[in-house]
Amino acid sequence: MTDQHNYDVVIVGAGVCGIYALYRMRELGVRVTVLEAGDDLGGTWYWNRYPGARFDSESYSYGYSFSKELLEEWNWTEQFSPQPETLKYLNYVADKFELRDFMQFGCRVVEARFHESPTHWSIELEDGRILRTKFLLTAIGMLSAATLPTIEGREEFQGESFHTYYWPKEPVSLKNKRVGVIGTGATAVQLIPEVAKEASQLVVFQRRPNWCAPLHNARIEPETMTEIKASYDRIFARCARTPGGFIHGPDRREYDDLSKEEKIAFWEHLYDSPGFGKWLANFVKVLLDPEANAEYSDFIADKIRQRVKDPELAEKLIPKDHGFGTRRVPLETHYYESFNQDNVQLVDLNETPIERITRRGIQTTDQEYEFDIIVYATGFDAITGAFDRIQIRGRNGQTLKEKWEEGPSTYLGLQTSGFPNLAILAGPQSASVGTNFPRGIEEAVDWVTGLLKYAFDQNLDLIEASQEAETEWTELVKDSYNMLLLKDVKSWFTGYNSNVEGHDTTRYLVYFGGAPDYRQRLTDIAANDYKGFLFK
Ligand code: NAP
Repeated sequence: MTDQHNYDVVIVGAGVCGIYALYRMRELGVRVTVLEAGDDLGGTWYWNRYPGARFDSESYSYGYSFSKELLEEWNWTEQFSPQPETLKYLNYVADKFELRDFMQFGCRVVEARFHESPTHWSIELEDGRILRTKFLLTAIGMLSAATLPTIEGREEFQGESFHTYYWPKEPVSLKNKRVGVIGTGATAVQLIPEVAKEASQLVVFQRRPNWCAPLHNARIEPETMTEIKASYDRIFARCARTPGGFIHGPDRREYDDLSKEEKIAFWEHLYDSPGFGKWLANFVKVLLDPEANAEYSDFIADKIRQRVKDPELAEKLIPKDHGFGTRRVPLETHYYESFNQDNVQLVDLNETPIERITRRGIQTTDQEYEFDIIVYATGFDAITGAFDRIQIRGRNGQTLKEKWEEGPSTYLGLQTSGFPNLAILAGPQSASVGTNFPRGIEEAVDWVTGLLKYAFDQNLDLIEASQEAETEWTELVKDSYNMLLLKDVKSWFTGYNSNVEGHDTTRYLVYFGGAPDYRQRLTDIAANDYKGFLFK
């Protein structure tokens, strides 16, 4: 084992989280490297190159907040930054803080194994190299394990086909092409209007419609950017106060005290405003109470009816099996209007299910649709999927996948017993995975940095969550779903994915107690000598 293969800290993943974790580890002055499977940094924003990919968070609330200098230097050009600009931003950050030299690209981790004595992790890479580290930090993304549909015949298709996550780096010409898109989640909803502009024919295969609402993107003029820069303290303070870490926080007026007219006027205002306000700045009761939720869902359904010309088609695009905001709300730009175009067609898979993919296209029970390109916008094995792809072996060789077979169990979404010295940054059951992601990431990384500093300063050899603390936390995570209507709806929030075996029952993946509550708990635990952790 050469020094080159020996580290204090290894971080897996060079996305938004891994980049920041590296920055903090460099500050600590430890020997650190980042292992990244992709050929460059950026994570989510490196892979998702599909047309239309952009933030749903206001750009200025998504960027890192840790450096005043960075905030002063960087200019966002759109309210909701498109993927190429975000990728440029992340590269800018890495270069500015001289982080790139500590990253290794094209490095896929196949196994990480904990060893008792001396305490360390060995990490095996796909290229056969084995590294050794005291602490292992995962920053492997919550939506990074793309899942293809389990439909027969996928390999037979003779045209081009890809999952949106793996949209090719080389430009894909859609001009005059016949394109099929499977899926109508947040990704498809961004993609479809862009494809509709170019393709000669676009057929959208929809299993369950989602409640989508307008993004209202706009350019950021230089004067506005100057104002934003002057307001950063206020913006981040605002994000810190809201449950979701966004600038949008719930309206706490008493729902039942308001007249129908007052509610409608407020909802019209939300619908016409940019971003997630329609979901997160709404009345609290809308996400908790079936009747209030139904009232608001009716309001949004009418908006869809107004925007889609064919009434029968409009009804197909309106969800009937769940209320607004009980799944992740896709924000859109002309999504519904796309279906008014002559070149766009919706196939309702409840009426005519897909039978198989053929050489020429997609065969439903009704007919064969012929395509040049098939796009699978079929989502992810969310939050735990990225962990399942690596053999992470803790004490006695048990894998994390085995331990989490029935669903994850963690302490704070940051550690799991039996896997000492492993920090799962913004992992399953943290609040971070349910919030404006970078806000949660900065919090998780800062906190884990404090924990590691504590260990380094005291020359501690081992950090591990106690089983008791983990059991309590996991119960708390389950309880955090109780009040919310989303608990009864199948989505990645509740751990469902029809394309992954065993993911057909509820799993509790997110701490829904809200970011301020989570932060307070983290602060209290650190102040209490990291209560719930065992040290050696
Ligand atoms: P998703 O929300 O899970 O949607 C996947 C879609 O594929 C659903 O419509 C699903 O139908 C459909 N599907 C899956 N398997 C299928 C099959 N075998 N046959 C037919 N249809 C099938 O995935 P996503 O759209 O990629 O979004 C995932 C998450 O990524 C979002 O919730 C969001 O958090 C994030 N995202 C963020 C942004 C942003 O920040 N700007 C943009 C895009 C995505 P069912 O609904 O019936 O399962």
